[in-house]
Amino acid sequence: MDHYPLWINGEAWDTGVHLTVTDKATGAPWATVSQAGVKEVDAAVTAAGQAFAHKPLTVTQRYDILMRTAGLIRSRLEDLALTMAYEAGKPLRDALAEAERAADTFTWAAEEAKRIHGEMVPLEATSGSENRLAFTIRVPVGIVCAITPFNFPINMVAHKVAPALAAGNAVVLKPASYTPVVAAKLCAILADAGLPAGWLNLVVGSGDSVGNALLNDARIGFYTFTGSVPVGETLKRTIGLRRCTLELGSNSAVIVHEDANIANAATQCALKGFSYAGQVCLSVQRILVHRAVAEEFTAKLVSVAQGLNTGDPKDRATDIGPMISEGDARRAESWIQEAVAAGASLLTGGQRNGSFLTPAVLTNVQSKMRVVCQETFAPIVAVQTYETLDEALRMANDSEFGLQAGVFTRSLAVALATARSLRVGGVMINDTSFYRAGQMPYGGVKHSGMGREGPRYAIEEMTELRLVVLNPQD
Ligand code: NAP
Repeated sequence: MDHYPLWINGEAWDTGVHLTVTDKATGAPWATVSQAGVKEVDAAVTAAGQAFAHKPLTVTQRYDILMRTAGLIRSRLEDLALTMAYEAGKPLRDALAEAERAADTFTWAAEEAKRIHGEMVPLEATSGSENRLAFTIRVPVGIVCAITPFNFPINMVAHKVAPALAAGNAVVLKPASYTPVVAAKLCAILADAGLPAGWLNLVVGSGDSVGNALLNDARIGFYTFTGSVPVGETLKRTIGLRRCTLELGSNSAVIVHEDANIANAATQCALKGFSYAGQVCLSVQRILVHRAVAEEFTAKLVSVAQGLNTGDPKDRATDIGPMISEGDARRAESWIQEAVAAGASLLTGGQRNGSFLTPAVLTNVQSKMRVVCQETFAPIVAVQTYETLDEALRMANDSEFGLQAGVFTRSLAVALATARSLRVGGVMINDTSFYRAGQMPYGGVKHSGMGREGPRYAIEEMTELRLVVLNPQD
């Protein structure tokens, strides 16, 4: 079994306390990683602080390191993807796509490093200030703490580490305990790409211990977090007046209007509802279909769901692998059973075998059922019908979340009404909620979080705006 140490101040740290990482398809031990304690967290934050204070990186150095990182990721795609197939149970095809996206994220961040700029402020328009010249600059916050979830174990890390470094910050990274190995491999890649000691430090350990120690370390200036709502709330309560971005959960809605290409909409909803066993924050969960096309849509949705292969994530033919744990699969199964007991119809799927759950399509659901109103984070979609667009928009907005939404329609008027009315971070026209490209502004409203990712936007979050006023003297 391979072992992975922590990475602090440019050195491998083996703490002697080991966390076992399992193969999520079999539950068998697969690798070990050193666990951090309070001492290692302190050392990691100290190293980041010293790098930031004493070893500044020029913009061209940051650009070169981030571009080399992108190249090295591309040269190690197969290994990184296989790592995710083991530790995250992510189907190999999806894992390869994720590793490629991580390389793109580093490329975008490298390019954005060269575009960090402020703006002129027209102070001469104020009487008495005619001779002053003012402009803003963007300065790094100092130490950024990145806390990441299990479901995109390399690209979520990339979306935090790459813009933080591009902006000139030093980073302390705590990956999810389920998936620390690919994060350790990414730290090694950054070192190979020439990132000097202290700029990126890896601490592994549970949220309660390592995560909590990080939240309470006042030297950290900014937190970039992706994960669940309860942990996001704890983070916000704990860090006081320090700043953060929170990328949290959702129960995304997709509206299928009567004038849409129904076969395409149903196919996309199935693929994007069940991909990675539904464990994606953008997964299609609530499908709102116009009553006139509901029968045709549901038949196609079920047929695509039944054609998906559930199996070994290391097999390239697999569409759906295991859930991250048997406990999560049991929880999802019980939510299906609870919905059925309350009158929902299970048209297909919902059979559990260990941590594997077959893709489930539910109809006749009610808005108070957990499969509708909470984040299922499982291969379950719930279909509801509507008569008017207003009704569909009300149903879609009837959620405590607001990450992204989709609408399928051939009508420009319907598309624009949807874009204007849905309270979410992004509206996808003729696509599902599940669309993301690295460079776009990405994030949610309501309980789905605050702040935006995508290197350009993350750099804005991870820098401070400073005003400079020149007052000429004789
Ligand atoms: P999670 O349980 O909230 O864990 C996320 C991270 O927070 C992990 O590294 C975890 O460490 C850490 N953590 C837990 N308790 C902590 C504490 N008290 N203090 C500091 N850190 C703590 O989330 P998950 O189960 O890994 O991921 C699933 C969730 O992430 C879903 O809700 C999903 O929607 C959301 N998500 C959102 C987006 C988005 O962009 N909006 C993207 C992906 C996922 P341990 O692993 O050690 O517990």
